[in-house]
Amino acid sequence: MKVALIGVGQAGGNVTERLARFDADMGFEAIQGALAVNSAEADLESLQFVETQLIGADRVNGHGVGADNELGTEVMQSDIQQVLDGLDGRVTSTAEAVFVVAGLGGGTGSGGAPVLVHHLQQIYDIPVYALGILPGRNEGALYQANAGRSLKTLLREADSTLLIDNDAWHEQGESIESAFETINERIAKRVGLLFAAGEAVNGVGESVVDSSEVINTLRAGGVAALGYATEVASEDSGENITNTMSVARQALLTGTSLPDATTADSALLVIAGQPDAIPRKGVERARRWLEDETGSMQVRGGDFPMDSDRLGALVLLGGAERSDRIEAFMDRAREAKDAQEAEATDHAEEFADDRLENLF
Ligand code: GDP
Repeated sequence: MKVALIGVGQAGGNVTERLARFDADMGFEAIQGALAVNSAEADLESLQFVETQLIGADRVNGHGVGADNELGTEVMQSDIQQVLDGLDGRVTSTAEAVFVVAGLGGGTGSGGAPVLVHHLQQIYDIPVYALGILPGRNEGALYQANAGRSLKTLLREADSTLLIDNDAWHEQGESIESAFETINERIAKRVGLLFAAGEAVNGVGESVVDSSEVINTLRAGGVAALGYATEVASEDSGENITNTMSVARQALLTGTSLPDATTADSALLVIAGQPDAIPRKGVERARRWLEDETGSMQVRGGDFPMDSDRLGALVLLGGAERSDRIEAFMDRAREAKDAQEAEATDHAEEFADDRLENLF
């Protein structure tokens, strides 16, 4: 699937950069253009593989908006024309979709991404998706509250919002910086493979997955999630039937970007590997299993021929918002918002009885 990427904020820029690098290193050429937009100049300076665009310079002078996502919304609204002009020529006639990438817990990405999606929807006929990063559980109440509001607005504006939970794809006990490195690398590989899957790089066959399958799976709207797992392929075709089932199970049950998201309106199962190592019987069995597991009657399937000694499964879920994980996340975001409001009220009340008079 040929895509244009726009990263907003620090996480958005970092992940966009990683994706662009992965796509170039692998020679997929699925990414048609990549732009990073930020109100913090320093965050843009570290990026090498993407074009950059500073916003809100008149308001925050290149210093960023902190974790104030309402200010993030305002600066994107004020400078939207500049950003859209910067996209001219990047969303070429070949792009089949646009992805706006952002961390939802901060300021610039959290507040800016929904505004950008809204405006892109007015201009382009192709689908406009969001790739949103949810804050990990330990990231503090403000991040949870920001992400809750951002996600709510993205779900209204985007054709689908692919969510990556920052708790999903790193090892326990890693420092947050090295965790970001690991997570970004994993996002780049998984999402990068999804983009490339529709490109059929190594030959065309009836069972090869097509980008329309990705778009049709995401047509369910709402929340999307992506799972991935690989195993060494066997010489024995019978064993590869078992291996195909096994990678599909791992991809959905332990490898998704949104842990515990298994109920979905639609799904796509992509099996990657050497064409002669991909068993039709295994793929069909895994696809039927995915139907049972997701409760969806719309499970598409296809191959991604690759020169690799492994068998891999990518599972894309569409309409996956009815998961316990999303419920729990939105509860945490609501609690954090309530706590913030309660805190603000308490501070004011503490001074209400004070016998000291105000200065004016
Ligand atoms: P912004 O620049 O104001 O949009 O805010 P950030 O992108 O710095 O932070 C928003 C969220 O993204 C927070 O939950 C951060 O923990 C997370 N985050 C920041 N940088 C990265 C990154 O490089 N990778 C990942 N996966 N998450 C990040």
